[in-house]
Amino acid sequence: MVTPSRITLARKRRGLTLAELSQRADVSLQSLSNYETGRTAPRHATIGRLATALDFPATFFDGPEIDELPAEGISWRARTKTPARTLDAARAAGSLAAQLYEWIDQRFRLPDSDIPSLGKPDPETAAEMVRTRWDLGSAPAPNMVHLLEAHGVRVFSLAPDYAEVDAFAVWRGTVPFVFLNTMKSVERGRFDASHELGHLVMHGSDRQCTGPEAERQANDFASAFLMPASSVLGHMPAGAHVDQIIKGKRIWRVSAMALTYRMHDLSLLTDWQYRSTCAELSKRGYRTDEPQGMKKRETSQVLTKVFQGLRSAGVRPSTVAAELGITVDEMNKMLFGLTITSVDGGGERTSEGPKRALSLVT
Ligand SMILES: [Zn+2]
Repeated sequence: MVTPSRITLARKRRGLTLAELSQRADVSLQSLSNYETGRTAPRHATIGRLATALDFPATFFDGPEIDELPAEGISWRARTKTPARTLDAARAAGSLAAQLYEWIDQRFRLPDSDIPSLGKPDPETAAEMVRTRWDLGSAPAPNMVHLLEAHGVRVFSLAPDYAEVDAFAVWRGTVPFVFLNTMKSVERGRFDASHELGHLVMHGSDRQCTGPEAERQANDFASAFLMPASSVLGHMPAGAHVDQIIKGKRIWRVSAMALTYRMHDLSLLTDWQYRSTCAELSKRGYRTDEPQGMKKRETSQVLTKVFQGLRSAGVRPSTVAAELGITVDEMNKMLFGLTITSVDGGGERTSEGPKRALSLVT
C-alpha cells in the first residue's frame, strides 16, 4: 500500500511541482494529484516510474506516515528571495533526516535535551544564561556542533544542493533539531549554529519566530554567545586596527566581520571606525569568505560514533539507508561534512571537502 504523503514528501524533496513530476514520470496530472490526495492508488508499474523520476527506492512509498517538520516552527536562515520550493525541499530533507534520527534513537542512547526555554529576555542576557547553565563561563565557545549535541540537539547537514539556505532550527515535539550548511567557512558555520541555538532558546515555544526582528535577536544572541562581552573587552583594544581584528578573531573562532560587529556593539569601535573596518575587510575578501580561516570542520561526535559503532557491529550504511527506504546518496547528504571518514588502512581524517565527505558511506 502506498502512503500518499510520501509521494508528496519525495516530490517536495526534489523541488518538483505536480506538473513537473507528472511529465517526468509520464503520469497524468490528474492521476498524480489523486495519488497524492489518496483518492486512488498507483499501480505497481506507476510506482516504479515515480520512484525512478524521484530517485527514491520504490520501498520508500509504502512506509508509514512521516511526521513532517512543522513549517510554521521554522525560522529560515537563508538568502532573501529564496524560492518557497527550495525551502520546501530543505524542509523535506529535514523530515527525512528526522527519520534517520529516530532510527538511531531506537538503537543508541543519545544525550537528553537540555535547551532552556528562556521566554523573552534580551539576547545578551539569554546568551549569558545559557553559558552559565552549560558551565562555559566566559571562555571561548568550544566546537559548536559537539556543544549542541552534548545538550541534546540533533544536528544534521543541510543537503548540499541548497546553497541559498544557511541553516534552520526546529522543535519536533520536545526534540530540538539544527540543520547546518557545511559548505560555508568554519567560522560562519559556528555563527550559524549559535544563531540557531538562539532561536531554540528564545523562540522555542513561540511559533511566531520568523521575521527580521527574530533574525536580529538570533544574530545578537550568537554574537554574545560566541564573544562574551567581558572576554572581548579584555582582549581587544578600543579602535583596534584591521590586522589586530584578524588576529583577534582566532581567540573566539569567529569571522573577522562578526568580531568587528561585536566590537562596534561593545563601543570598542566608533561608527566611523566600524564602517572603515568593514570596507577594508571587504577589500581583503572577508565579506563573503574567511581568508586563512579555520581549516578543520566542526564535525558531529554523535553521528561519527553512531556510524563507527554500526560498522564495528557489521551494519553497513547502505543497510541503514535501505531500512529508511532512501538512497545511500540521500543519507550521505544528511551527514555531509559532519562525519569522520575512515580511510582504508586504519587512519582517520576529517571530511573537509564535498568529494571526501561523500565517500563516507559508499
Ligand atoms: Zn534565524
